[in-house]
Amino acid sequence: MTDFPLLRGTASGPFETVTEALGVRSKQNEPTLSFEFFPPRDQEEAAAQLWRSFDALMEVSPDFVSVTYGAGGSNRETSLAVVERMAKDVMTIGHLTCVGGSRASTAETIRRFEDAGVHSILALRGDAPKDNPEALQTGELKTALDLVKLVKETSELEVGVAAFPEIHPESPHMEHDSMVLALKQAAGASYGMTQLFFTVEAYIDLLASAKAAGATLPIIPGLMPVGNAAKVVRMAEMSGAAIPVELLNKLDNASDAEARVIGMDYSIKLARDLVDAGAPGLHIFSMNLSKAALEVARGAGLCR
Ligand SMILES: Cc1cc2nc3c(=O)[nH]c(=O)nc-3n(C[C@H](O)[C@H](O)[C@H](O)COP(=O)(O)OP(=O)(O)OC[C@H]3O[C@@H](n4cnc5c(N)ncnc54)[C@H](O)[C@@H]3O)c2cc1C
Repeated sequence: MTDFPLLRGTASGPFETVTEALGVRSKQNEPTLSFEFFPPRDQEEAAAQLWRSFDALMEVSPDFVSVTYGAGGSNRETSLAVVERMAKDVMTIGHLTCVGGSRASTAETIRRFEDAGVHSILALRGDAPKDNPEALQTGELKTALDLVKLVKETSELEVGVAAFPEIHPESPHMEHDSMVLALKQAAGASYGMTQLFFTVEAYIDLLASAKAAGATLPIIPGLMPVGNAAKVVRMAEMSGAAIPVELLNKLDNASDAEARVIGMDYSIKLARDLVDAGAPGLHIFSMNLSKAALEVARGAGLCR
């Protein structure tokens, strides 16, 4: 028997940490459902769209949500404001990057996330901002591992870390990434969350490699709904994720309306395959839009 309601979500959500949500859902033989948002870039319309989407996605009672953070802290204040508002309604993960930062300023940001009501930090290195390409060398915290340690030293927060089904672009091979993941787990990270990817095989390979390296933490796949094919192809190029040629060919010859149907069918099948492959949850990249994210969540049978 669990003390937690079987329905997802109450006013403030039933879970305090991602690890707890994963544990309880796993006992119920269900994956967690969660969504990623990004802080709006100042225009009023972008903010209105974010909150419209957030409200729509809260209707399906996700277990938690996450909010991205600009590398170098470019959008720190907006990110903190968004996180603070979301955390009143649902468990919220604050993404945090450390590239170019000092230990003291990053520790201060960790404290502010804690004050904003966040219980979990996704500890990331980030990439060097275009206007500060030296940041990877000049910052005091060189890798996400340093950030995991800092969060653990300075707060009570739970820590999650990034995982890469298609290998981090700077890594020589997946075994290297897995060794790094194991180090992060040993330093206190309790869950992983993946970069976008497009085949269930990539996720299965990542799990096998992580396990072989001793990284046993649950790894939640991040899933990008292919609602707007052009946008997703651009994001895939930026992240280094390979879109299967077969899907690309189908999208190439399709009208916009046909491309949406093809893309969404593909995303829903991928979501189902991931759940069948034992994924402990699905983290859907909403892009601050609700329609495609809801279709995937519903299609994968994760909404009640
Ligand atoms: C789920 C998810 C969410 C993300 N959210 C954001 C966000 O909100 N904002 C943002 O700016 N970026 C975000 N990113 C992108 C991320 O910042 C970049 O992918 C970045 O290049 C790497 O981040 P990392 O945390 O994996 O870094 P690291 O773990 O530091 O890894 C970077 C490279 O260094 C290597 N490395 C690290 N530690 C060691 C070690 N001890 N020994 C040897 N090699 C090592 C790794 O193998 C890798 O090649 C996200 C990525 C994911 C997967």
